[in-house]
Amino acid sequence: MRWQEDSSLARRMLDDLESEMWIDKKLPHLTELIYCLTASWCRRVQPLPYTPQEVSLFAVGVGVEKVLLRSHRQHLEGVCDGIYYDADFLDYNNNVGEFKCTRKSMKYMPEEFPWGWEMQVKGYMYALGKDQATLAAMCLMGDYRPPFPQLGAWHGRASEQELANTWQWMCWRKEVYLDHLERKVMPRQFTYNQDYECQYCSFKVLCDAREVIERD
Ligand code: SF4
Repeated sequence: MRWQEDSSLARRMLDDLESEMWIDKKLPHLTELIYCLTASWCRRVQPLPYTPQEVSLFAVGVGVEKVLLRSHRQHLEGVCDGIYYDADFLDYNNNVGEFKCTRKSMKYMPEEFPWGWEMQVKGYMYALGKDQATLAAMCLMGDYRPPFPQLGAWHGRASEQELANTWQWMCWRKEVYLDHLERKVMPRQFTYNQDYECQYCSFKVLCDAREVIERD
């Protein structure tokens, strides 16, 4: 038997997957407030196609989530102070849970995972009135030594004050975000983000260009 690569077929399959990716989230959604507000604004107002890697990772995440979380109560939707949320699941102990599929190594602890994950979990905890949460991560590369992948799960607890502070920050972001949407003005580049977010951001060219224009 002889095989021949068909990259156009792979591209077409990715295009089909990509059409599933934009779920019309209610505005403002908790996740778009946590990450770069400039990117969130662009995704709403002038979206760009996702990269093949982003589409592939999304597909793996959705597939694994469906199978892995089947025995849990899934997707707890709601709205708190005008912010919409959609938590992934309730675990065996009725704790709110977030599931991630990642290329991060299993050797890391949640404190070393992307900052936004913890903010997301704390946002759900506040909105649902819980002081404990579960984070489950399918680390696709394990600890970068076979066998791959590995599933990790962690329980976390946060104080009332910590959750209140997180929520206050979230409400501030909501005001900033909605104001920019209403005025049809892009939130200033490199202002409402974490540095690491720019590395693989599809809007980086736009932000760099604006930065140059403003400097000149
Ligand atoms: S490049 Fe950075 S500042 Fe610009 S949209 Fe992306 S994450 Fe935000």
